[in-house]
Amino acid sequence: MSFIQLPRSVVSCRNLVGGSWQVPPGAVQLDVRSPYTGTVIGKVPLTPASGVAQVVEAAKVASASWRDTPLRERTQYLYRFRQLLERDLDSLAQLAASEAGKTVAEARAGLLKGMEVCDFALSLQNLDTGAHLEVSRGVSCEYRREPLGVVAGITPFNFPAMVPMWMFPIAVTLGNAFILKPSEKVPLTACALGELMCEAGYPAGVFSVVHGNREAVDALVAHPDVQAVGFVGSSAVARHLYAEGCKRGKRVLALGSAKNHLIVVPDADPELTPQAVVDSFTGCAGQRCMAASVLLAVGNVESLLQEVIRRAAKLEVGPGMGALIDRGSLDRLETAISRAEAEGARVVLDGRGRKPQGEPWSGGNWLGPTLLDGVRPEMEAARRELFGPVLSIVRVPTLSAALAVENASPYGNAASIFTTNGGVAQTVVEGVRAGMVGVNVGVPVPREPFSFGGTGDSRFGHGDITGPSSLDFWTQVKKVTRKWSARTDGSWMS
Ligand code: NAD
Repeated sequence: MSFIQLPRSVVSCRNLVGGSWQVPPGAVQLDVRSPYTGTVIGKVPLTPASGVAQVVEAAKVASASWRDTPLRERTQYLYRFRQLLERDLDSLAQLAASEAGKTVAEARAGLLKGMEVCDFALSLQNLDTGAHLEVSRGVSCEYRREPLGVVAGITPFNFPAMVPMWMFPIAVTLGNAFILKPSEKVPLTACALGELMCEAGYPAGVFSVVHGNREAVDALVAHPDVQAVGFVGSSAVARHLYAEGCKRGKRVLALGSAKNHLIVVPDADPELTPQAVVDSFTGCAGQRCMAASVLLAVGNVESLLQEVIRRAAKLEVGPGMGALIDRGSLDRLETAISRAEAEGARVVLDGRGRKPQGEPWSGGNWLGPTLLDGVRPEMEAARRELFGPVLSIVRVPTLSAALAVENASPYGNAASIFTTNGGVAQTVVEGVRAGMVGVNVGVPVPREPFSFGGTGDSRFGHGDITGPSSLDFWTQVKKVTRKWSARTDGSWMS
């Protein structure tokens, strides 16, 4: 089982400040442990507020000339960055996998998705041409898209490359200086991305990395020169940052946690459905914000459920499935399973205690696929995000009852329907609360330019983090009305 290569030596992460890598003065250093083995693979500084101020200052200096660089010129740097990503795809995938506990295949897919966002940003030079119209004789109106200045992105552990790349290729191409505050659990990939941004030739300070935890985040959000904040992580932090940023008149788009529902009806495809369900709740060890968490079994779907159990039971726990990020996460999940059992759920597949054989993996954080049947909608296992390879089966008599359960969730990231009936699919597409809906797709992540974003407690703010609405988030649209001479042959405006 050698599909994962940990870094050969401990990586000391530094901040990228004004184009140079620096250790922030006075920073406490945290160990970064690989979820696969528990070994220390890196050290990360927890930047104090004073260090954050330094990064913002350097970014502010850079933003002045970057905003004056024409879009077509800014785009050239992104071309080079994208080529470098392609060159280093395999090593970046290994690095992201080794610190996040993802499989290498999943880490690679995350990078490819990040490249897709680059493609979107690269196309702006040809597509985002604004609008210009003669609105009256001798009078014209025009849209101009202008950068905001210094902006920041705060990202979670589970997609060390992809989530940062939901933001910075677009924000930087639009003329902003971008500061990335990666999760302190996965800082190594962020440093590698920073190295590539430097190699691509971006001017110093256009892209910065600041490491840390709550203190660094609070300092970024409070800093008067940070104009907009993109956040992806848990709902509690998303809600807090949204309030803190809005209080200061900033733009904040904060994506939060999820509790995603798969609705399975009796006419669902017997081959496609069980595999999609298993892949959705076990992929990345269930640590995806788009992972299935509740299966709403409508009527008699017994044979499909048996097939889900059979296929999930066959999965090998180990680097082919992914590890949980840390010991705290494993403890939390084991407790949640025991609590569901105590509340009356049946553990029809128990992943507790399952781990791969062999010394390298003995220090890893392992949980096998776990299926809880007989979960009732009011139980914790049906309501709270668990973020692991655990699927709660809730039995419902009708499609309307399934929709009622989904609609009652405070979250609204993803939902999917498994059916061969177009009418049933349409009822679900129209009836669910979630912002991203799948029809016979277990992880309904939209490809670009169909943007990414949920509703409810899964998203605080307006618009999506990628796609067309992200352009409005990272820029100011200025409206210009021009007249060069007095006219008597037009309307009141001329
Ligand atoms: P997290 O909220 O613990 O951390 C996210 C970021 O916030 C990190 O950079 C962290 O340093 C910082 N942070 C943590 N606590 C903070 C605090 N009290 N104040 C200020 N900043 C703080 O999330 P996580 O555990 O890294 O990631 C998993 C969560 O992210 C899950 O809930 C998952 O659903 C969610 N997620 C959502 C999406 C989405 O698109 N909606 C995508 C990926 C992950």
